[in-house]
Amino acid sequence: MRKFLSVNSDICIGCRLCELACSMTKEGVFNPKKARIKITFYDIPEVPVPVFSRHCDSCGGKPQCLKYCPVGCITFVEGNPKRDQKNIVLSDEVAAEWLEQHGGKKAAGNENNH
Ligand code: SF4
Ligand code: SF4
Repeated sequence: MRKFLSVNSDICIGCRLCELACSMTKEGVFNPKKARIKITFYDIPEVPVPVFSRHCDSCGGKPQCLKYCPVGCITFVEGNPKRDQKNIVLSDEVAAEWLEQHGGKKAAGNENNH
């Protein structure tokens, strides 16, 4: 069965090591701007939400970024593509849901792409 990248935003600590791992793997440099995964920060206090760009190719089936995540919030699993795709690309919904569960409220226009 086909595998998909997924993230558990609840445990992401925003360290951005995944961005460095990706940029080094794909571009040979430590430069988060060249990463296929982006950590987007929402609200204050900031909530980090990992988001894969459409240029992510899962490293051909051997994702490198997840190896360097210190808390294991990136997984490469078999599962429902639609459900997993939602977790992967709809960062705004993920962040809003997280904030709702934790008593916060997403401020309009407060999205930062670091
Ligand atoms: S799976 Fe590979 S290409 Fe995709 S974000 Fe991770 S390191 Fe980058
Ligand atoms: S390495 Fe893991 S904990 Fe760190 S920013 Fe990336 S997804 Fe979040």
